[in-house]
Amino acid sequence: MPGFSTDCIHTDAAIARVPDAVQPIGVSTTFRYPKDLEAFQEAINNPAPGVLPLVGNPVYLRLSSPGSEAVEAVLSKILKGHAVVYNSGLLAFFAAMTRLNPKRIAKHKCYHGCHVILDIFTRLTHLEQIDLDDWEQLEAGDVLHLELPVNPEGIAYDIALWAERAHSKGALLVVDSTFAPPPLQDAFEQGADLVMHLATKYLGGHSDLLAGVLVTKDPEVKVKLLEERVYLGTNIGNLESFLLLRLLRSLKVRVLQQSASATAIAKWLDSQVGVLPALAKVYHLLLQTDAFIKTQMPGGFNPTFSIEVASEEIARALPDRLEYFYHATLLGGVESLIEWRTLLDEHAPKTLLRISVGLEDVEDLIEDLRQALALFS
Ligand SMILES: *Cc1c(COP(=O)(O)O)cnc(C)c1O
Repeated sequence: MPGFSTDCIHTDAAIARVPDAVQPIGVSTTFRYPKDLEAFQEAINNPAPGVLPLVGNPVYLRLSSPGSEAVEAVLSKILKGHAVVYNSGLLAFFAAMTRLNPKRIAKHKCYHGCHVILDIFTRLTHLEQIDLDDWEQLEAGDVLHLELPVNPEGIAYDIALWAERAHSKGALLVVDSTFAPPPLQDAFEQGADLVMHLATKYLGGHSDLLAGVLVTKDPEVKVKLLEERVYLGTNIGNLESFLLLRLLRSLKVRVLQQSASATAIAKWLDSQVGVLPALAKVYHLLLQTDAFIKTQMPGGFNPTFSIEVASEEIARALPDRLEYFYHATLLGGVESLIEWRTLLDEHAPKTLLRISVGLEDVEDLIEDLRQALALFS
């Protein structure tokens, strides 16, 4: 069987429509019907089980496009399921909630935008939102939602344990694996029923597109998600599918390097707690000792983590004193970012800075952090 990167680079060749080594940027929203209308009607009326009739026969961008189908082919392969791609991460989450429509959802503190989506469902469907610790109230058809590793602190829960708890109640486990892109973590291995990734983050990795993906092991669920996507109008756009396909080619080398650099930086930062007074605490999976961490993230630790500094004033001022870490929200890109998280997340401690490690040389990143922290020490 081909390896991960080979799949990233070659999977969609089987459905390529032109012989170009790089598939062209599509600009069309509509596609001519084939001349053989009888065969076309037959394909639509009697699709193979688990196949949406018009996949492979693009007719209109809102349904699918050669670009979205190529992206889905690659993502299905590397995420080991049936992938459906969306025009943003939050809309992927919205689509998951629309499909599952649970009466109750158990969750921990997750991405603030996901909380807002859940509040919309509470308004529309009286969805009851409960804390993860109250999971025993879950019933059949409910959802347990994990976002791992947790944003912004970058700590993890035991997916296998929570899968067991959800399933013991007949509930489904949804895992937002954005902070642990492939090949770092495969939440299906630990029992997840639906896996979500924000392609806006690591899968794209160049801070130049919005997209999201849901992955299911059940081909019938994929068909339902595709059918609903048609009417939610949330398929990925043509330029974004071109960019995402291009960026997926280098996913493994990017993510493994970002993970290795982040781990080295976190290790160095941890060694400076008590040495540089400006630095108060480091949150990174490296420092979490639970036994499940090693099996849950066999590919390496997450490249985004957080630190706490000694005061709110330092947290406010420090990002501006860094050369290579831009002060901006987002994570997963080739450029390193740092963010005073309280600006966008009211629940984040005021002394917390989130760090997304990019692809600069790790020595330069460490030196940048050292000089900035020293300024306030
Ligand atoms: C960024 C992020 C989202 C939202 O993704 P968009 O593509 O910006 O819509 C959702 N969940 C998590 C964990 C995120 O980090």
